[in-house]
Amino acid sequence: MSAMILNGKDLSVIIREQLKNEVEQMVKEGVRPGLAVVLVGDDPASKIYVNNKKKACEQVGIQSFQYFLEESTKEEVLLDLIVELNNDSSVHGILVQLPLPDHISEKKVIESIDPKKDVDCFHPMNTGKLFTGSPVFLPCTPAGCMELLKLTGVKPEGKECVVVGRSNIVGKPMAVLLLRENGTVTVAHSRTKNLKEVTKRADILVVAVGKAHFITEDMVKPGAVVLDVGMNRLDNGKLAGDVDFENVQHIATAITPVPGGVGPMTITMLLKNTVTAAKNQ
Ligand code: NDP
Repeated sequence: MSAMILNGKDLSVIIREQLKNEVEQMVKEGVRPGLAVVLVGDDPASKIYVNNKKKACEQVGIQSFQYFLEESTKEEVLLDLIVELNNDSSVHGILVQLPLPDHISEKKVIESIDPKKDVDCFHPMNTGKLFTGSPVFLPCTPAGCMELLKLTGVKPEGKECVVVGRSNIVGKPMAVLLLRENGTVTVAHSRTKNLKEVTKRADILVVAVGKAHFITEDMVKPGAVVLDVGMNRLDNGKLAGDVDFENVQHIATAITPVPGGVGPMTITMLLKNTVTAAKNQ
């Protein structure tokens, strides 16, 4: 058996084309959506992410504002910038690239962003709304996974769904999205006993651990849909997922590749949230 490869690049092209049309219409009506991206420090990987976001914005006609602050930037300076961006009517979405340097509180920074502009969906107001079932924004990576899942025609309703990883940005919100669609959801993490027994139950398996090739063929139920969020840089410079793609693809019904799976969809969902934010403001 060979799995359906869930191509996030191709799906992104389609969704970004739709967003481009929406943005053109909004511009005609006098509003161009704007996204501000703030990076503190000069981590090379973060710089690449920030530049990719800029390129993606340009593709669909969203105005992009970039702020590169020095590693030594004081917390107050960053918080002041966020206040400025909160009050700037040409900025509809604000994203602060994580991780931040140790001397800056991520919590404080996230909570200082106007929830209406929190296109990452990290603010407690927005995560709360997600939990209670009335979200304004969906968190980008889990939302991207749900879009890829739609391609398979497999609906979570009544299915065993296992999410490996419980971070606030991927694992936990992913579990909520699957639950919203009536999946029977298990969240596994580093303290889970007999992980293989748990993952093997999954009709839909989502993996966000951060360890290359962590999920092997013997941990996957034949016929499962496998969504691999992991992005791990190997010694040879290549990017690898958390799933042993080469072997798992032979037993899965559908699987996301890395790169070219969840990654591009995360940015696409960010663009979608920015357009939504602009419409709402
Ligand atoms: P975190 O490091 O915040 O979380 C990792 C999770 O994996 C934790 O919940 C941890 O458990 C769990 N874990 C670690 N070791 C094991 C183990 N041996 N068995 C079971 N669970 C384990 O990572 P993120 O959620 O932020 O990211 C995960 C991966 O996804 C990374 O590779 C990251 O680069 C990638 N990523 C990709 C994105 C994309 O757009 N494609 C976006 C965001 C992230 P515990 O809580 O118990 O410590």
